[in-house]
Amino acid sequence: MIDSHAHLNLEDFDKDVDMVIKNAFENGVKSIIVIGIDAKTNKKALSIVEQYEGLYATVGIHPSVADDGGVETIVDYLSHPKVVAIGECGIDLHWRQDNLKQQLDIFDQQIRLAIAYDLPLIIHTRNSFAEAYQAVLPYKGKVKGVFHCFSSGFEDASKAIDLGFYIGIDGPVTFKNGKEAKDVATRIPLNRLLVETDSPYLAPMPHRGKRNEPKYLPLIVKEIALLRGLTLMEVIQQTTANAKQLFHLGD
Ligand SMILES: [Zn+2]
Repeated sequence: MIDSHAHLNLEDFDKDVDMVIKNAFENGVKSIIVIGIDAKTNKKALSIVEQYEGLYATVGIHPSVADDGGVETIVDYLSHPKVVAIGECGIDLHWRQDNLKQQLDIFDQQIRLAIAYDLPLIIHTRNSFAEAYQAVLPYKGKVKGVFHCFSSGFEDASKAIDLGFYIGIDGPVTFKNGKEAKDVATRIPLNRLLVETDSPYLAPMPHRGKRNEPKYLPLIVKEIALLRGLTLMEVIQQTTANAKQLFHLGD
């Protein structure tokens, strides 16, 4: 399995990141993509993944720090052999609506970099699928990536897929009240689905509320298999192939 979205570069993992990675490997998670969100965590993502085979990094400017600018700080990293995507970037209208223009500007700069460097995009949306979708639409066919931690409905998922993107499914698919996530995970084409933990956030059941770790990824995969009436192995094989294809991961 590949955990296609984990923030092992946040302080939550400062004390035991080695053990967290070891436990992931022992639970069948052979590959982890460590996601940067700002200058500090981009740098740290690289310093972690350089120590492990099977770990890869992404660098990006998250919409929550859009006011700081700083897209130029990621350019130096984009040719690094272990940087497999740009992000996470995108639009967040849950926490702030007043700086949408700035968020859109930083996002657009990263979309252009993704095209220039032929890297996929990791897109964050929160209460903002329509805005993020409209921002990517002019570049349809030139850029691909994933709408990570998808929190919108099946119709929006279909629009994202039509744009050439993948859909990231996380812990909420295991929640009792995760109706929409379950619906999306059941109905989208399996060859467009990526599995991710978004560690340390959104731990799947029965660990909800605790620190999430890549070792819990099998719980998400199991739920998807259950929902779709597939075997665990069928979901693992297809979602692993999806991640390898999108991020150009070697064996
Ligand atoms: Zn994230």
